[in-house]
This record gives sequence, structure tokens and C-alpha cells, in this order.
Amino acid sequence: MSDEREITVSNVATYVFCPRKLWLTSNGHDPHDVNVVRGATEHDAVDNSSKPMSVHDPAIGLHGTCDSVSIDENIANITEYKSSSSDIPVIREHVIVQLAAYRHCLTAQGYVVRSAAVWWTTHGYASTVSDFAMDVFNVPELTQKCRGVMASDTSPPVLEDDPRCAGCSLVEACQPSEELVSNPRIVPSRRDDSILIVDADVRRVSTSKGHIKLDGKDGGKTLSAPIGQVSGMVVLNTHAIITTQAILALIEDGKYVVYGWGKPQAFTSPVKLPNGHSRARLAAADSSIRKYLASKNIHAKVHNQASRVRALDPSAARAIRGLRDDVTSIDPNLPEDEYTSKLFGLEGGSATLYFSVVISSLPT
Ligand code: SF4
Repeated sequence: MSDEREITVSNVATYVFCPRKLWLTSNGHDPHDVNVVRGATEHDAVDNSSKPMSVHDPAIGLHGTCDSVSIDENIANITEYKSSSSDIPVIREHVIVQLAAYRHCLTAQGYVVRSAAVWWTTHGYASTVSDFAMDVFNVPELTQKCRGVMASDTSPPVLEDDPRCAGCSLVEACQPSEELVSNPRIVPSRRDDSILIVDADVRRVSTSKGHIKLDGKDGGKTLSAPIGQVSGMVVLNTHAIITTQAILALIEDGKYVVYGWGKPQAFTSPVKLPNGHSRARLAAADSSIRKYLASKNIHAKVHNQASRVRALDPSAARAIRGLRDDVTSIDPNLPEDEYTSKLFGLEGGSATLYFSVVISSLPT
């Protein structure tokens, strides 16, 4: 063997899922999206109550950790824990090869593997995997193929129009957006339409290699999600640092960013969306939110006009500031038409004052 690196069972499973994905992960692309992190947490919880076991076959340089192995003398029963969002979970071949690789290692360690199964944590039952299904995979050969892919300077080709890409956490890193646009059948996974919540536990939001990264406070966990799997971001923490690149990356990918502390204050929507789309979303909001947003917008507008008026004609400043303050004192319990009528009246009064000051300041 020209390359003797150790291969993990996870590498073999990734290779069977997609050789290109193995190459990307071995070249620094982080496969840990929000869903994978959640999966890892489920595993952590499971591992506490089961018997994980490290397995290996030094002869071929393969090792891994099986979620649960029950041993009775030299008889071993393997169980791997998985979750699934499908009503009827299906065992894919990259999971079968994982069990085949554990079986291979345990056999090399002198055990007789009597059974292998997947326990669905989301459904509460086990699916047995037959020897026949596992025999399809030549584990030593696959281990060597992993080495070849990981040592290569060039990546294996993109899978073409393959359903695996829709569930792949590396789709953003793997496929340039032009390919996604030109081939709409290949789309980023939207398994749970994740909304990123930037709350008090988040210190910083940034972007890297097609992912949005949320860094936790005080050295807390970093979460990373491909932009394609995020449907929007809600900012609740006014002190979080959000890089311009992160906001642009979301907006350019057609996502909304909503800023709100207590209630929505504002939102940033993609320019390419027609105005009607934004209006439709506002119309769908309940009356109190619509009144609140209208009040905030008009207050900001009158405030800007007041700043300009103060600079041009200080004697008019008090009047326009009074209109601005009146915006916030409209009774929010008024019916919406009465509320907006008062609001627009103040907006109109401010505009009249503003333009009279601006026009009279122009040279004649
Ligand atoms: S997006 Fe498709 S081709 Fe690319 S790594 Fe994932 S599964 Fe492989």
C-alpha cells in the first residue's frame, strides 16, 4: 500500500454514500450541519445507556466505534442507533456497509457476529440487517478505495441528478450555485427548513465556505449549517456580532433576516423578490404586528426628517419633533383603520413641514 493511513468505519460509510463527499470531508469541508449536530447529540445520549465498543482490524488499517455491542462469550450482537424523519425508515447502503465494517472488525478480533441491527431512536424499534445484505460489501477493498480517494489531489466527479445530493450536508461546498440553477432537479436539502435563532447564547454569526456559522458565547459550541438548508434567520440578541458577509450571503440566497427583540422590529428581504411577496407576508401578520411595524417605520422616517429640519430651520424643529413623539403615543389598542389613519395623519403633517422647510431653503 502506498498510503498506510488509518481509515475509519465512518470513512467507509461516507465513501459508499458518495466518494466525492469523502474527498471533500478529508479536504477540510465540515459536514456538521445543524441536523448532524442534533444527530450527534442523540448519539451522545444513547451512548450513555448502551455499550459502545471500539473495533479494529490492524491488518487493513480500519477502526471505528459501534454504538452498542452485546457480548456473550465470543458471540457479538451489533446495534447501530439512527434517527429518521421518514414515516417508514429505510436502511440505506451506507448504513449497511457501516454494520458490515463493524462485523468485519469484530470477526478479525475473534468474535462471531450473530446479528446486526439498526435501532431507530425516532421510531422505537429495530430493523435487522441480514448477513446476505452485508456480504455484498468487500470491506478490505472499500477500505483501500477510501485511502485512494483521500490521498488524491483531485476530487471524484459530482453525482449527476442524484437524490443523495438533496440530503447531503456538503451540497453547498460541492456544487457551484450555477449548477444548482442550471439543474433545478438538484436542490439543497431543506429537511427541516431550519430557522437560525440568534439568541443570548450566540456571540457571533459569520459565513465560511457556503455555511453560516453561529459561535456560542464563552467558548460555547459552534453550529454550522449550509446556507441552502437555512430558510431564514431571526436575530433576538442585539449584542451578537453579525458580519455583513453573513447577512449578504443569506439575502443573496433568498432568505429573510428578521430583527426583533420582544416583537419584530424590522426585516431584510431579498431584493430579487417582488415587493408583492413582502407585502403578502406583512398582510399575513396579525394586526398588532402590522400596527407595530408601521409605527416603527413612520417614527424612523419622521425622526430623519426632524434631523434635517433642525439643521435647516431650528425654529421648526420643536414642531416636527412633537409630531415624531406623537407617533409613539397613539393608543395601540385602537382598531387598525383608526390607528393607521392617525399614523398617516402624523406622517403627512411631518412631510408637509419637512418639504416647506426644504423648499424654502433652496436658493431662489
Ligand atoms: S452534493 Fe452530491 S455529489 Fe456532492 S458530495 Fe454530496 S452527495 Fe456527493
